Amino acid sequence: MKKREIRKQAEALLLKMTLDEKIGMVHGAELFATAGVPRLGIPPLRTSDGPMGVRNEFAPDHWETIGHTDDYVSYLPSNSAVAATWNRSLAGKVGSVLGEEARGRGKDVILAPGVNIKRCPLCGRNFEYFSEDPYLTKSLAVPLIRGIQKWDVAACVKHFAANSQETDRLWVDETIDEKTLRKIYFPAFQAAVKEGGVLTVMSAYNRLNGTHCSENGWLLKDVLRKEWGFDGVVISDWGGVHTTKEAAENGLDIEMSVTDNFDEYFFAGPLKQAVEKGQIRESVLDEKVLHILMLMIRLHMLDGRRKAGACNTPQHRKKLLRTAEESIVLLKNDDHILPLDRKRLHRVLVVGRNADIRHSQGGGSAEIKALYEITPLLGLCNALGGNCRVDYVPGYGSSQKKEQSENWQEDSLKDGGGQKAEENGKVSMTLLKEAADLASRKDVYDAVIFVGGLTHSQDSEGLDRADLVLPDGQDAVMKKLLEVRPDTVVVLTGGACVSMEPWIDRAGTLVWSYYNGMEGGKALAEVLLGDVTPSGKLPETFYRRLEDCSAVSVGEFGKEKHVSYSEKDLVGYRYLEEKKIRPLFPFGYGLSYTEFAYRKARAHAGKNGTKLYVTLKNTGDREGSETAEVYTKDTDHENVLILCGFEKVKLQPGEEKTVEITMDVFPKGTVFFIGASVLDIRLKAVI
Ligand code: BGC
Repeated sequence: MKKREIRKQAEALLLKMTLDEKIGMVHGAELFATAGVPRLGIPPLRTSDGPMGVRNEFAPDHWETIGHTDDYVSYLPSNSAVAATWNRSLAGKVGSVLGEEARGRGKDVILAPGVNIKRCPLCGRNFEYFSEDPYLTKSLAVPLIRGIQKWDVAACVKHFAANSQETDRLWVDETIDEKTLRKIYFPAFQAAVKEGGVLTVMSAYNRLNGTHCSENGWLLKDVLRKEWGFDGVVISDWGGVHTTKEAAENGLDIEMSVTDNFDEYFFAGPLKQAVEKGQIRESVLDEKVLHILMLMIRLHMLDGRRKAGACNTPQHRKKLLRTAEESIVLLKNDDHILPLDRKRLHRVLVVGRNADIRHSQGGGSAEIKALYEITPLLGLCNALGGNCRVDYVPGYGSSQKKEQSENWQEDSLKDGGGQKAEENGKVSMTLLKEAADLASRKDVYDAVIFVGGLTHSQDSEGLDRADLVLPDGQDAVMKKLLEVRPDTVVVLTGGACVSMEPWIDRAGTLVWSYYNGMEGGKALAEVLLGDVTPSGKLPETFYRRLEDCSAVSVGEFGKEKHVSYSEKDLVGYRYLEEKKIRPLFPFGYGLSYTEFAYRKARAHAGKNGTKLYVTLKNTGDREGSETAEVYTKDTDHENVLILCGFEKVKLQPGEEKTVEITMDVFPKGTVFFIGASVLDIRLKAVI
């Protein structure tokens, strides 16, 4: 249906509604739903988190999980993991799983994806976000959103805008100049609207240049609606509204919150009174209701022609496994220690608590009730099939966060909404010694695999990490293991980079996995054993030292009340290039078990964008996939290359292919730099 017809239909319905009925549609009447208008056949709008799967069911008016068995779902790789695949088609598939499951659970809006920029690795919600780079973020967020919305479910792109820290998240005021916003922090939102056709947007908790995002007219009216042409629904973050008039008149459509005093929400009783007293024009309210009705018409909520969804299908698991496989990043593989040869493995030692941890039920609102989650330990045992004995010891203790109350989301409003992580746990000498003693038994163990990293005790909503140090004394454990067993295979999990300086030079191998969904442990085992050739690449910089991150060294990060983004657009790798600082592992980096040659490249101007053709050859002896990354000079910084295109291609041994990469329109004479990471440029091409 055309937009004009949809609006006409919505207007006809609006004419029949009373003031109370309209008010009921613009605020939460439950924690995750608005009120419908049964008299007119208008259902409530049902929302649910989140980015890693559809969240479990809560009681309508308090934070108690209902606890039946009907809300188990597929657990998706996190957005960071999706980003590490550099594969648009997989991003679309992940979105489609999320949309189909949201629909299967009767939801209208799924509160995902989060497209905030990873400005600093300490941000506790980084695992929910894609990348430090706006181009990579938008390139994957757009297909993901389309995948969700195929199922007559709205995506809700969040958190608009610049929600890049958790500390004091409800009140912190961020000073960011407009050029930087448009260059770094807006592109993914803009593309979500203009290319992804996203139907809802969540306003962020924070203030932007003095004004809360939920009542920021420049953000919500001038940029989002007028400039980008958004005609969907703007939903507040839960508890992110602080006024009635300002929020109502500056573009917000629905107020959601975390408490049960639904009738007292700013957009409930207070808004009704303001309209009655003539302090706010009724047409302002009408416009919100129209947006919501138009959304309902688009989702076929009113015409009985809505698609049915499904949860937990075998097809879903297959898509998630593929994504998990492609997202694992091989960062080091000296002397080709990996892949491990199954035939030579009779007894393996797995060290590290992360091997035995399930991550799905943590992280804040992104938590989910996974139907199952294959841990690294289970994945390895399954893959080794009983012919090889797998022993496991934890190696380090756990600094699990204080027991989190079920009410944390409501409580989080009280303390400004974000804190610093707790003290890092200490080394347990008993566990360390047990692991080292076993690992040194070369006569017993054919391989030692350390699985460590972060958990959702560190990577979590409402928290920022205090530093990059691995928790619970893992550095000491790894140093010791690598001393007694230099061929120890090192696997780390996390939502953003950790410091590795204490042991990285001694490690021959390093495998990185983001929170990788229900099939994560299986995918990891497949990579370690060579059933799958790793093809993930880092969607962010891994710094040597925290001070190398521009948000920390030039701007401010993690402060209360006010932070200044004075590093401007020099975020992530852009800053390192400008300052010629060497990262630990650069943006776009990731190894394979095979080798790729970059043969030739040419670029052509085209009407719908610039086309770049690059010829790649697999020069090794096993099948593998390579992502060719295209960079161009940043027009504002002579020394900085920025990502402007990429394409992933699968090649058999010896196979050569020419890949077509479509980019934005660039002027004649533009030079492109094509390579395997931002620091590994192999070819140049000029339009
Ligand atoms: C988070 C949102 C989430 C909402 C609903 C907030 O705490 O910031 O991302 O969608 O809660 O649970």
